[in-house]
Formats: sequence, C-alpha cells, structure tokens
Amino acid sequence: MKECSCCKQTLPFEYFDKQSTGKDGYRADCKVCKKRFIRSKEGLIKECYATQKSKAKKRGYAPPAYTEKELLDWSKSNPEFHLLFEAWEQSGYKSNFKPSFDRLNDYISYRLDNLQVVTWNENNQKGYSDRTIGANNKKTLAVDMLDLDGNFIQRFHSVSAAAREFKGLPSNIIGAINQRVSKKRNPNGTTRLITATTAYGHKWRYSTSPNDNQEKT
Ligand SMILES: [Zn+2]
Repeated sequence: MKECSCCKQTLPFEYFDKQSTGKDGYRADCKVCKKRFIRSKEGLIKECYATQKSKAKKRGYAPPAYTEKELLDWSKSNPEFHLLFEAWEQSGYKSNFKPSFDRLNDYISYRLDNLQVVTWNENNQKGYSDRTIGANNKKTLAVDMLDLDGNFIQRFHSVSAAAREFKGLPSNIIGAINQRVSKKRNPNGTTRLITATTAYGHKWRYSTSPNDNQEKT
C-alpha cells in the first residue's frame, strides 16, 4: 500500500503507475490523480517539458534553453495553446487532438523562439514524413499542391516556397496538410471546431518523392 501524494488516499500499488525514477519504483500520485493532472494545462506543459528534457539527454542534444516555469508562462500567453487545449477537451481527450510542442526548425534546439504548439497528430505526422524522406531533408520537405478534387497541380520544393507563391504563411499550408483542428468563435459566443483541409484555395500534401538536396528553401 502507498499513500497518493495528491489525493492522500492509501491505495494498493497497482493503483499507481510504475516509474523507474520513483523512490519505490512507482509514481507518487495515483493513476486517477495522474490522469487528472495530465489533462490540466499545467500538467500537460510539465509533461511535455519532462519529455523534451529526457529526449535531449537521450539523443545527446542540448537541453531546452528555458525552464519549466518559462515554458508554462510562454504557453499560457500563447492563444494557440489555449485554442488547441480546448479543442482537446472538447474531443474528449482524444490522443490525436492532444497539444504538444514542435520545433519550427529541427536543426535548432528547444528554444522559445523556435517553438510552436501543434496537435499530437500533427507533430507525429511531421516526424513520420521526416523519417520517411530522410533526416537531411527535414527542412526541405517537398509539397504537392492539389486542386480541390485532389488532382496534382504542382510540386514545390518546400512549404516555404509554396507559401511564397501565395505571399502567405507556411503554417497555413502545414495546417492544411495535417488537417489542423482549431476552435472558432461563433457570432453568438459559442464555439465550433474547424478542421483545416485547404490553404490558399488548394489541397496540399507532402510529396512522396524524395527531395533534391541541392534545392534551396
Ligand atoms: Zn490520488
């Protein structure tokens, strides 16, 4: 038996998640409290921070260039974070709606000026595309521009190049590729979830053919 650090109930060990770094091999808080915690804004951010730190350590990268507190403050002042968090709540905490942090430039370490909030699904799909196409092309994934029926029109050597064509923002095109979910406010004050499917009048997808490294972004 073990007392939960959060709800103070004394519970059998199977009510706690295992944790190798924990004093007795278990987390200090029980499963119910843990679930409640990681579904709070603060808990989510702290969890992400811990993941970033351990990932950096495991891969031999520089640790995040900010403290947990700085990430909390940054996230809480970021409207996109709140929108995505509410979308996650509304989805009933579906994992592919879960907000996470993504680096804008994968070659730069975790810095606040290199972070954006995305949904878990988006982050994972990006990782998947990166791995499929090759780590060296991380910055220069080619994208295909499609018409609204999904017919191929044109290939751009990068999202940035495509955005330039429309004097637009790369994030809008990435949103359309990843079907980004966001929350919009109705005139009567209620809200609705919007899934991005197009940007600049087109559908988009990451190109399946490998990129030419000679091309510049
Ligand atoms: Zn508890």
